Order: sequence, then structure tokens, then C-alpha cells
Amino acid sequence: SAAKNVAIIFGVTGLVGREIARKLISTTNPKWKVYGVAREPDRVPLQSPNYHFIPCDLLNPLEARTKLSLIPDPTHLFWVTWAAQHPLDSQQCCDQNRAMMFNALDPLLHCSAGTLKHVSLQTGLKHYVSLREIANSKRIVGQRYDEGCPRVEEGFNFYYALEDLLKERLQGGRVAWSVLRPGLVTGNSSRSMYNLIGSLCVYGTICRRLNLPFVFGGTRDCWEEEYMDGSDAGLVAEHHIWAATEERVRSTDGQALNSVNGPGFAWREIWPVIGEKMGLAVPEEALAAEGFRFAAAMEGMEEIWGGIVAEEGLVETEIGDLANWEFLDVLFRFPIKLLGSREKSDRLGFTARREMAESVSFWIDAMREDMLIPREN
Ligand code: NAD
Repeated sequence: SAAKNVAIIFGVTGLVGREIARKLISTTNPKWKVYGVAREPDRVPLQSPNYHFIPCDLLNPLEARTKLSLIPDPTHLFWVTWAAQHPLDSQQCCDQNRAMMFNALDPLLHCSAGTLKHVSLQTGLKHYVSLREIANSKRIVGQRYDEGCPRVEEGFNFYYALEDLLKERLQGGRVAWSVLRPGLVTGNSSRSMYNLIGSLCVYGTICRRLNLPFVFGGTRDCWEEEYMDGSDAGLVAEHHIWAATEERVRSTDGQALNSVNGPGFAWREIWPVIGEKMGLAVPEEALAAEGFRFAAAMEGMEEIWGGIVAEEGLVETEIGDLANWEFLDVLFRFPIKLLGSREKSDRLGFTARREMAESVSFWIDAMREDMLIPREN
């Protein structure tokens, strides 16, 4: 019988992890057997005879060893997970994410010598910039970063820690690896930490319910300028699978690839699209709300959300399962133009693109479909 590829997706309930799993188990891809790992099961689980979910806390070395060494002959690993007890403590974040990857790789590299072909890591465009300067809201006018740009602030960014661990563990072997660097990810998950679409959907639903103005609440710079790259989770998932399977792209030295939609976007273009989709008018004063903070505006809305979930018969969630207000508050005041070049991927033959407006509409519909938010407002 034809040899099967055996994938393990770490972070399978997250924004990109779910899409990699869905694509690999789709009927057009019958040659994959897929194992999905995450701390807790998905609220809207995937169903397929080719798919197995493994609940596992990767921060627990013993649990990781016990559960992962049972997987027979893995060929491809996808690392689309991260954890942060204190996202602003970069040292702790480096240690924690490194420990997670170490706990997973250690048993797998022992028991799958010979079968493992590729590891596909996901980090992000923040690879290229100083996190310290962002934290201090220093305005950075960047260039369009390409994959060859040098690192900044060694030791401060957990992305570097993950790349280095991977390099170290795969050293001298036959195992190829890649690192994908997306921008702002649009997707559908109820187990994601930085979930743009989930946050906006909950915000829009609450605005609708309470008749609140659909305020953008960020800075004028963020609203007006072409500011950042979006990365559609489906597109990033395709990119992962391509990087892991195209022979001419795979490399034991590691292949770094920016993973972005194509054209960058500005919020002034996207906000009205979200408003229309959610049945909300964008107020004239969308921007003028000086001092607006999502964390403050949405404080104490748990009961309102609980009421909506019950009345509409939605999948049971708490606000924090879908929305992260601190994330929006940082995102809409992001003091930096963060854009990644697509030139390398284009040249190597991955040319698919997405429009941010289409992507946003698509994922709002996906959340409705999964009954995570009300169908039509
Ligand atoms: P996510 O937050 O959507 O999903 C995380 C997944 O990891 C979930 O399945 C979660 O259950 C799982 N997980 C978390 N802790 C775990 C643990 N201890 N044990 C087992 N599973 C655990 O992930 P994401 O946003 O796709 O992030 C993946 C990478 O992409 C990160 O490096 C992130 O910085 C980067 N990135 C994210 C975005 C974004 O907008 N979300 C943008 C650019 C880059």
C-alpha cells in the first residue's frame, strides 16, 4: 500500500492549527493520517477517520513523553502553538515556549528516528522588530522586511529561542525544517490567545445588543495608514503544507518564509466591512473616541454575553474564550508599520493571495456557521 504521511499538529485547536488539520484530512488529501495535540479539545471538534485528537499539556514533560511516544512513525510536525503565562515577560515567555518544544521533540526524536521528514514552525513578523521598542510605544517606520533581515535583541524574543532549539535538535540530520512568519492572523478558534476575528465578533455582537456605537477606538495612524499585513489562517495553513512537502523548498538548513496575504491593509478600509457584516453602522466619531479602551469599555459584559449565548443557543463560551480586549488595545495602537515581503515565496512558487476584506467576511461567517456567535444580527 502507498506510504502514508503521518502529521502531528501541535496547537490543533488554534487559529492556524485547525486549518492545517482540516486541509490534511480533506478528501482531496487521502494520504495523510493526522494527530492533533492541544491542551483541551476543540469546542467544535473535527470528525474524520484519519484524525485523532490527543489532549496533552506540552508544559508537562512526563505527559508529553507518555502521550507522544505512542504515535507510530510520524513524518511531519507542525508547530502552531504558543503559551504565555505573562505575555509581557519576555524571558518567561522564551523559557516557557522553549520548554514546550523541548518536551515534544525529545520523545519524538528518540522514537521516530528514520521516519521524520519535516518540521514546520510558525512564528511571526515580530521576528523583525524590537519588542522592547514596541512595548515602549516607540514609533518605528520599518521597511518591507525580507527573510534575510538580521535578528534584533537576541535573547528577548521567543521566536529566536524556538528556531535555535529546532536547529540544535535537528542538527546534522536528514530532517528538513521551515519557519513561517505570518502577520495578523484571521481565523476561527475558541482556544486562541490573540484572536482578532473572535474579539471583533464578540464586540460587534455586544454593540448590537446594547445599542452601543461601533467605535474603532485606536490611533489615527493605525486607522489611516497602510499599516500591517493580514494572514488568512487558511492561506497560512496551505503555506505550511506546501513548505513541508515541496521537495525543492525543503531544506535541512531551515527555510524561512514570510506568510502574508499579499496586499497590506489599513483599518479604515476594513472597519466598515466588519460593521456591515455585523449589521452595525460605523459612527462618524469612530475615531474620535479619545481614551477609548476595549478593556474598559467591555468590562463586566460577562453576564450580557452569557445571556446572548443562552438565548441564541450558541456553543457554550465565556467572553475570554473568544475575545481578548488587551490584545485589541495594543493592536489598534501598534506604533509600527510591520510588513513582510512575499518575494521569496513567490519566487519559490507559492503565489496564492487573499484580500483582507474577504478574509474577514469569510471568518465571521465561519464563526456563525460554528454557532460561536449569533447567525444573522
Ligand atoms: P493560537 O493561540 O491560536 O493557538 C494556540 C494553540 O496551542 C491552541 O490549540 C492551544 O490549545 C494550544 N496550547 C496552548 N498552550 C498549550 C499547552 N501548554 N499544551 C498544549 N497545547 C497548548 O495560536 P496562533 O495565534 O496561531 O499562534 C501560533 C504562533 O503564531 C505563535 O508563535 C504566535 O506568536 C504566532 N502569530 C500569531 C498571530 C495572531 O494573530 N494570532 C500573528 C502572527 C504570529
